[in-house]
Amino acid sequence: MTRAYIGLGANVGDAEAALAGAVGALAALPGTRVVGVSRLYVTRPVGVADQPDFRNAVVALDVPPGPDPAQGALDLLVHLKALERAAGRRARGRWGPREIDLDLLAFGRHRLSLDRPPDGQSRDVAVKGVRLLVVPHPSARERLFVLAPWADLAPGLVPPGWGETVGSARRRQEHVEGSGAVRVAGDWDPAAGRWRRASR
Ligand code: ADP
Ligand code: MG
Repeated sequence: MTRAYIGLGANVGDAEAALAGAVGALAALPGTRVVGVSRLYVTRPVGVADQPDFRNAVVALDVPPGPDPAQGALDLLVHLKALERAAGRRARGRWGPREIDLDLLAFGRHRLSLDRPPDGQSRDVAVKGVRLLVVPHPSARERLFVLAPWADLAPGLVPPGWGETVGSARRRQEHVEGSGAVRVAGDWDPAAGRWRRASR
């Protein structure tokens, strides 16, 4: 099995329910086990400011390694894109509002940069002008809305190529964005399959 981390985000409709639904859908992927779910965060939009606040979380998964890392990671990406479509995500352009965004943050200790699917792989995940798959996710390090929930699960993890832990990247980015950029809104309740209000 390979340990993968998925970044979840949504800001359309009942975003919290969409995220909880995505955790359930990830758990139901073939050969997949959910090994951790971060706290729920309410975060200020980045890029396009004039849109509702986001809900963000990170999920740790054990997934099949695939015949090789590129294929294993791509298979997972194809599943993520299918879940986004199933959740009703419509094309609205980058950084805009979304029903659900599922990003592959890390796939084991592998560094991958794929421009096109290997032969035989579905092409429908390709986006013009965007590399098909880059792992670790290139923007994760500059986004407190990713680093904060990721550090809940794996503060000591050093993603390949980073030269620092997720926890230290989180602290650094907190100084850049200010601690008000993200706030904790709930703790994951595995029995209920949703987040409980955070007690203060
Ligand atoms: P973003 O997540 O950057 O806001 P999108 O969700 O619209 O934007 O993703 C656009 C494309 O980015 C995806 O279709 C996918 O092919 C590509 N991509 C590259 N690397 C990754 C990754 N690690 N995780 C998810 N998507 C990725
Ligand atoms: Mg995405």
